[in-house]
Amino acid sequence: MKFAMIGAGAMGLRYGILLQEAGNDVTFIDTWQPHIDKIREQGGVYQMRDHQDRHLVKIKLETPESYNGDPDMLIFFTKQMQLNEYLRRCAHFFNDRQYAFTCMNGMGHIEKLQKYFADDKIIGGTALIATVLPGPGEVDFMGKRGAGKLNMCPLTEKPDEMTHRLFDELQKAKMNPTLTDDFTGTLMTKVIFNSVINTICTMFEIPMGEFGNFPGANDMARQLIDEAYDICARADIHLVSSRQEEIHAIDINTRIDMPLHYPSMYQDMTKDRPTEVDYINGYIAALGRKYHYEAKTHLFVTQAVHLAEFHRQNLAKQRAIKARQAERQAQTA
Ligand code: NAD
Repeated sequence: MKFAMIGAGAMGLRYGILLQEAGNDVTFIDTWQPHIDKIREQGGVYQMRDHQDRHLVKIKLETPESYNGDPDMLIFFTKQMQLNEYLRRCAHFFNDRQYAFTCMNGMGHIEKLQKYFADDKIIGGTALIATVLPGPGEVDFMGKRGAGKLNMCPLTEKPDEMTHRLFDELQKAKMNPTLTDDFTGTLMTKVIFNSVINTICTMFEIPMGEFGNFPGANDMARQLIDEAYDICARADIHLVSSRQEEIHAIDINTRIDMPLHYPSMYQDMTKDRPTEVDYINGYIAALGRKYHYEAKTHLFVTQAVHLAEFHRQNLAKQRAIKARQAERQAQTA
């Protein structure tokens, strides 16, 4: 199958490299100039697995403006706040035959894709896998080969031939796909999962295991989960796991599966990039308001993450002022 990875960050590279290794024709499309320059200079991307076995993988890389191919499947892996810009810049190579697949976190992306693709060409999903982009031109796949899994569901909830072909290619690439039959329920269940782990670990700048091993972790998770599940019940969204199953999944994921991992939201914050919190906890709170439910805890943690972002921005400004002062002193000395 011919794929275009829209966004060649951590996840775009992971999915794209695995699909390429499984025999597909994959082109990566990105806009972050230092990353593009590094990949071109190196002749590919340096890939690691759990910080080990650093090796060069050759990839085809284009910018939205330089690409003129006609892929069967576009896989979107941008951050939520980058998607509109990517869609606008890539629109010149979209056509009615193509499918759009995405396993991005948060909510808001599907409505944006619907402006460019028909409903029967959109396949959504959730990625249960961790990948890190340590810097330009470098990607670290967390977990052993074959680790992690994904859920996928067509927006129409009626899988067609292309959905099955995508499923087969993802399976060949050892990405352990599961085809689900409830689109919104599948996506929202992951949003709720992220609304606990990503947000709390980012606020406190801690790895996931430190949250999981904290004696109050289950109580904190329960409060966020109860609010989100109450809202989904009002919105008639059928989540794919029960409240207790979600708490159990969070416990296993943080304590046992990935105790040393920092969630992607934390990675954005420490690189002074905006986080996706407005599309995760903020989305849950906004959905609550629509159904006359005040999700006080989600509103609070959304602001707490913004406070952490604000604090880091102030530290960066102070560092810049000190650096300028030191430079001036050195010049006058
Ligand atoms: P990413 O930040 O690695 O890449 C997204 C885009 O941002 C790419 O175009 C990349 O080139 C660019 N980018 C990366 N670092 C940058 C920097 N410092 N400055 C400017 N641009 C930069 O994003 P990702 O981790 O691939 O996530 C894509 C989507 O998948 C998100 O919705 C995320 O929440 C979700 N997701 C991520 C993971 C994970 O482990 N990384 C797991 C599941 C879901």
